[in-house]
Amino acid sequence: MNKKTLLSLFDNATSRDWQDWRWQLKNRFTKISHIKKLFGEDFSHTRILDKITGIYPMAVTPYYLSLIKNNISDDPVAAQCIPDMREITLGQKYPEDPLEEDTKMPVPKLIHRYTDRCLALVTEVCAVHCRHCNRKRFWAKPKSGNFKTRLGGFIRYLEKSPQIREVIISGGDPLIYDDEKLESILAGIKTVRSVEIIRIGSRAPAVMPMRITKNLCRILKRYRPLWFNTQFNSPAELTADAARACNMLQEAGIPVSNQAVLLKGVNDSEDKMRALLYGLQKISVRPYYLFHCEPVKGCRHFRTSIESGIKMMENLRRECSGLALPQYVADIPGKAGKIPLVSISSSTKAEMRKFQYFFDNFT
Ligand SMILES: *Cc1c(COP(=O)(O)O)cnc(C)c1O
Ligand code: SF4
Repeated sequence: MNKKTLLSLFDNATSRDWQDWRWQLKNRFTKISHIKKLFGEDFSHTRILDKITGIYPMAVTPYYLSLIKNNISDDPVAAQCIPDMREITLGQKYPEDPLEEDTKMPVPKLIHRYTDRCLALVTEVCAVHCRHCNRKRFWAKPKSGNFKTRLGGFIRYLEKSPQIREVIISGGDPLIYDDEKLESILAGIKTVRSVEIIRIGSRAPAVMPMRITKNLCRILKRYRPLWFNTQFNSPAELTADAARACNMLQEAGIPVSNQAVLLKGVNDSEDKMRALLYGLQKISVRPYYLFHCEPVKGCRHFRTSIESGIKMMENLRRECSGLALPQYVADIPGKAGKIPLVSISSSTKAEMRKFQYFFDNFT
């Protein structure tokens, strides 16, 4: 679906509007009927029902929709944003909150699982509703609390928790807020002396890259050391717009890292994963984590086996630059947290044995 076709659906919309993130947000596609009309025959055969959007609403920016280049049923971007029947037929016994995050909040919307850092969920709203989202429960039934009360609670908790040196601003997508509101969050958190590092987790570079504006970068720059973690899952998302967005952040002195999710049909083959990792490396975005897809209700059809994930990453480790390799992890509830998923193959063990290394270190 190209940009021109999509723009023509809106009265008098221009390329300039397209580059305006507010326009993108305002004109998100939320109705199955629109998607059906746009994709025509291809789409009428697929498994889409309005019923799903009643449970997990759809929201797709025109920009993200423009990245769909194939049939809906065979496209890495469509898989991530177009509702799929399997969301309500498979894995219905999976929990909505497998990490039990909702029970781990010392104050509303702040998750403190690891000693030196915490996750501040500043919103439940996202630009695009990712079909594989592990926090679907947030936006499935949106309820918004008072922003100031929430931020006040965060700051009070941080004040009495000096062991927290890093705050991860997440959600939802924090970049759903305008610059002013975002700055009030940054400024508020920065008032806490013991907070040394701020991290922002946002999918904006992938789903609405026009959100990364000059003004936003000017603001973020003032709050360094600030790290930006985003989520690209497919090379189809690594567009010129996305590269520009990442570059603007980098030029403001903000390192950009990527947390991908291993998703069946999207990036679960060596070729697709290699293309994603090389593509990220080419725009200086460091692959940080590759998450094994969690057992979340509504996401069953995205899950692969851990064995196949380990195998894929092992093969890639043999051929790819270390700078292009993320750590493949599974997040589980409880103390263990994110667990690296690795295995040493028997052939590698044999090679290690040759160099005495295996005996020295593993026996
Ligand atoms: C993943 C996560 C973090 C960040 O962990 P890193 O390994 O530093 O990326 C922090 N808090 C919570 C609750 C998390 O789930
Ligand atoms: S941007 Fe993140 S929180 Fe929002 S829907 Fe996508 S995966 Fe979920």
